[in-house]
Order: sequence, then C-alpha cells, then structure tokens
Amino acid sequence: MENKRFRKNDNGFICQNCGKEVLPLGYTSRNHCPFCLCSLHVDINPGDRANECGGILRPIRALPDPKRGYIIIHRCEKCGATVRNKAAHEAKVQPDDTDLIIKLTAGC
Ligand SMILES: [Zn+2]
Ligand SMILES: [Zn+2]
Repeated sequence: MENKRFRKNDNGFICQNCGKEVLPLGYTSRNHCPFCLCSLHVDINPGDRANECGGILRPIRALPDPKRGYIIIHRCEKCGATVRNKAAHEAKVQPDDTDLIIKLTAGC
C-alpha cells in the first residue's frame, strides 16, 4: 500500500484564480473550478497533465450542447491557446455555476 499519500492530481485542487477549494467530482476528473470556471493549462489531451504551460485558463464563451449540456471555451492567459471543456453543471458535488455559464453563452 504505497498510494496512501495524499495526492492532488486527478482529485480536488485549490483554484489558482479564486482560491476556493474544489472537491473531486467522483465520476470523472474535474478540470475546472465550479465557482469561477477557471482552469489551468496543464493538459494537452484531457487529463494527461502533459502541458508545461501551467497558465490560467479563463472562460471566454460557453456553448449549449444538446447532448452534453454545455461546453465551456477557455483561453489561456499565458500562451493564448483556446481549449474546450465539458461543463459539470449537473455534478452532485459543487456543480458549475450555471448562471455564469448562461452569461457566457449570451456574451458573444
Ligand atoms: Zn475558481
Ligand atoms: Zn497555456
């Protein structure tokens, strides 16, 4: 049993933008903060943590998706890349802020 150590990677994290503690989703790895919807540019492919950029991904737009709820489009503050993420507004624990998502769908 060597995995008893507290590990942060695919579980909870502290949001680098708003400083709130984000709990694990449970059914899939959480990749953005439910409070401010910011994320970190750490993945090349979802969940791989292979990107060394590490900049803050800020939500710039959201798109309603008939099958999957909402897609949030993030732009990296550091390198300018845009990344799409599935919203977790139906999560049982700390769902994404739906009001904020709706504002983002309108603001374009
Ligand atoms: Zn946050
Ligand atoms: Zn980046």
